[in-house]
Amino acid sequence: MSARLLKNVNFKLITNSRLYSSDVRKCTLIPGDGIGPEISAAVQKIFATATVPIEWESVDVTPVKGPDGKFGIPQAAIDSVNKNKIGLKGPLMTPVGKGHRSLNLALRKEFNLYANVRPCRSLEGFKTLYDQVNVVTIRENTEGEYSGIEHEIVDGVVQSIKLITEEASRRVAEFAFKYTIENNRKKVTAVHKANIMRMSDGLFLRCCREMAEKYKEVKFEEKYLDTVCLNMVQDPTQYDVLVMPNLYGDILSDMCAGLVGGLGLTPSGNIGLNGALFESVHGTAPDIANQDKANPTALLLSAVMMLRYMQLNKHADLIERACFDTIKEAKYLTGDLGGKAKCSEFTNEICSKIIAAS
Ligand code: NAD
Repeated sequence: MSARLLKNVNFKLITNSRLYSSDVRKCTLIPGDGIGPEISAAVQKIFATATVPIEWESVDVTPVKGPDGKFGIPQAAIDSVNKNKIGLKGPLMTPVGKGHRSLNLALRKEFNLYANVRPCRSLEGFKTLYDQVNVVTIRENTEGEYSGIEHEIVDGVVQSIKLITEEASRRVAEFAFKYTIENNRKKVTAVHKANIMRMSDGLFLRCCREMAEKYKEVKFEEKYLDTVCLNMVQDPTQYDVLVMPNLYGDILSDMCAGLVGGLGLTPSGNIGLNGALFESVHGTAPDIANQDKANPTALLLSAVMMLRYMQLNKHADLIERACFDTIKEAKYLTGDLGGKAKCSEFTNEICSKIIAAS
């Protein structure tokens, strides 16, 4: 089926006829704000074309007022993730300085999604400053600088607490070492500022050292955050898997995204003991929302990570190949990648490649 024909097919018909088989698994879908609904629809269309055995359960996470008067995640959304244990999430807008607190943080805390995994890899055929970037940042996702404990001490003086616990640090450090082994990688770098934040980062670092003792087959090194930033823009190939407290991971992973072509390309997974939520690294991109301009790659590759997590590797490979080939051919690139294609045109090209390969 050509891309032109595919455009005219009723998307609902494709999903209904192909997806409902006995081994279909339900996944929660949070379409999100801004460009979220557009890129979520693109992923759904691509998954349907690749006949991925998934049924999406779309939920609304618009904050609702609880009995305590505070705004939080609607119960239906919490129930859906608790039941399905796996989900794909579009970006969510966070009001600055006022309004409800970050729903992204609330979701991570609610489901104890303690490790945020962000792979960053140069894409074949897509020219950037470096062509050999292949790093994975693993960020502690539940505490640190984002613990949300903030208060005004006196007028004009506020305090934000960086909370570091042995339990969470050990858990994410162990995750990083296991991830390295399971993904045939070689080295873990613990990123810290324990020279300044001796107690908090000191504890984090101690937990990483403990895990380095436990998993001796993995190379281990410790680096200051500032040194890693410097090295990363000079020669990113010296790094492999990097593990760090929350804020450092948030910032460093965006820098890594810049090295491989920008936020439109980088996926992530929030992994917990009881489930996982996959999402793009980027935000709601309000400047291009509702204009069919967004690049759906980051969310699509997050969905591919989700498929691998679910051991649906054949579907993951098929979709990933079609996406990479579309970028490599460079006929249908979105604006962020220097092209003129619409989100829908880029999506249709991926679908045509999937159909051709199936
Ligand atoms: P952003 O990532 O939304 O946008 C930064 C720049 O990158 C913009 O120019 C945007 O157009 C571009 N961009 C981002 N994603 C793109 C895509 N897929 N295709 C093409 N271009 C893309 O960052 P921001 O503007 O700082 O944040 C906007 C909102 O998103 C804020 O409310 C912020 O809190 C929220 N946010 C949410 C998440 C999340 O849900 N995980 C992450 C980051 C930011």
